[in-house]
Amino acid sequence: MSHDMLLGQEEGGAVVSTRGERFLVVRPTLADFVLEMPRGAQVIYPKDVGAILVGADIFPGARVLEAGTGSGALTMALLRAVGPEGRVVSYEIRDEFARIADQNIRRFLGAADTFVPRRHDIYTGILPEDAPIDRIVLDLPEPWHVTSHAAQALVPGGIFFSYVPTIPQVVRTAEALRSVGAFGLVETVEVLMRSWNIDGLSVRPAHRMVAHTGFLTTARKVQGIVAAGERDGVEPL
Ligand code: SAH
Repeated sequence: MSHDMLLGQEEGGAVVSTRGERFLVVRPTLADFVLEMPRGAQVIYPKDVGAILVGADIFPGARVLEAGTGSGALTMALLRAVGPEGRVVSYEIRDEFARIADQNIRRFLGAADTFVPRRHDIYTGILPEDAPIDRIVLDLPEPWHVTSHAAQALVPGGIFFSYVPTIPQVVRTAEALRSVGAFGLVETVEVLMRSWNIDGLSVRPAHRMVAHTGFLTTARKVQGIVAAGERDGVEPL
């Protein structure tokens, strides 16, 4: 089948291949693109992206700091959510991942001046020119190295978010958030998404599902009302 058959077609139409197969013509959604695009690092799966955008409360115009960029899947969702008035600064330590992410983002979103990629190790700190930030979104192995930097750079009421695959990582992150003394409302969730088969009398859950990806932890930057080292942090009002 030649691409010329697709060019100029309206979405939702169909083309028939030389072997007689019918293909539906639709533009890829962000979720479609992310699952098919070239990857360096493992991407955040679509099932978690929506929960991250809402959990981290990414809003139009927000100043977001992300690390690491990885393949850029989450970056794209963040860029769409902050819109033309927002900004997503994204730190990455590995050149080849940053390059792949850059290509993926350009291909899907075009050149966006709201995207500010930087080659920087966030464990060493947040660059002064990137503060203040409204939201910090972390998908890297040791987010507990970032809690005190985040406390400095976040606006009051700002949100710290981290995504990690194992519970020991969650525990260390939550402990670090509490010991910094500048965070409250520390919460962790996971997202279980189960597809259903709806076909005549066969109305039932799908046989297989993605059972585990990562744990989503959020915290709010609060005024320093928690003593450093205090275990329980601040309870919701
Ligand atoms: N969220 C991304 C995947 C991130 S994978 C996506 O959806 O595509 C984790 C990334 O963090 C890797 O690319 C890794 O190189 C980067 N990373 C690890 N430690 C880092 C650090 N200290 N500072 C910045 N980036 C880091």
